[in-house]
Amino acid sequence: MFDDLQKRLSSAFRQFRVSGVLTEANMKEGLREVRTALLEADVNYNVVQDFMTRVTDKAVGTQVVKSVRPEQQIVKIVHDELVDLMGPSDPTIRFEKTGTTVLMLCGLQGSGKTTTSGKLAKLLTSQNRKPMLVAADLQRPAAVEQLKVIGAQLGVPVYTQENSNPVKVCQDALIEANRRGCDTLILDTAGRLHVDDELMAELVQIEKKVKPHQVFFVCDAMTGQDAVASAEAFNAALELDGVIMTKLDGDARGGAALSVRRVTGVPVKFVGKGEKLDKLDPFDPERLVGQMLG
Ligand code: GDP
Repeated sequence: MFDDLQKRLSSAFRQFRVSGVLTEANMKEGLREVRTALLEADVNYNVVQDFMTRVTDKAVGTQVVKSVRPEQQIVKIVHDELVDLMGPSDPTIRFEKTGTTVLMLCGLQGSGKTTTSGKLAKLLTSQNRKPMLVAADLQRPAAVEQLKVIGAQLGVPVYTQENSNPVKVCQDALIEANRRGCDTLILDTAGRLHVDDELMAELVQIEKKVKPHQVFFVCDAMTGQDAVASAEAFNAALELDGVIMTKLDGDARGGAALSVRRVTGVPVKFVGKGEKLDKLDPFDPERLVGQMLG
């Protein structure tokens, strides 16, 4: 994960062979390489520009301490700014004091919504909550079956309806959850290959009629800036409460993870690091930056 970014950054840091005071002039080569490394990792252009200004402002005028190599001082500044870019971390889900807390998952097709619904259900079960999964993805024929298999694996009820519409499925699921004493409802909604009006209209209807307490955008880290652009579109339509970033176990370049918070203003809550249902971790910017810097 982030292998290329890590290699590019460590090569950039080797350019900082400076003594005395850090200046824009003597950091020029190194900073240019840091910038290229971020752009090649598919970080949003505006985010990179802003980031470079912050790093430069912080570094200029810094006296290179004899006991510390100059590149180490730069690494520390870059580290802190990268953490700041992605944080602060808030891997929490707010639960209602009474009744059923409704969590809605949305995102493009293939981003990992169904898998992540299962992962959340597993996490909540381990916290002694009683989740119910709701198959509201009526677009992808296999999604309902996939969710049923996941539910059976976890021993978590899955609410489904034949020949229905997503709003009705979610509304009836809420009644059923109350009847069965399930305290959390996880809505696995439909996605499309691209953002389109029909999809957004369907999701907005669910949001209006079912009033989920929190809406999470499931974001495929492998798709870089496209994922961030989708997050922006979903956030404009739905007022997201958080992002869950999937496929961080693959060879994601880092762009989505580094850009999504700054571009949308929405915090990343959890990260998916594998297909299995226990592969969901709280989002930890410090740790991710540690992996990016090697
Ligand atoms: P949906 O269309 O959004 O419901 O997506 P799915 O949940 O069906 O996931 C699409 C594919 O991505 C499946 O093959 C999942 O196993 C896989 N997937 C989901 N999350 C992760 C993850 O965190 N890591 C990896 N490697 N694969 C994942």
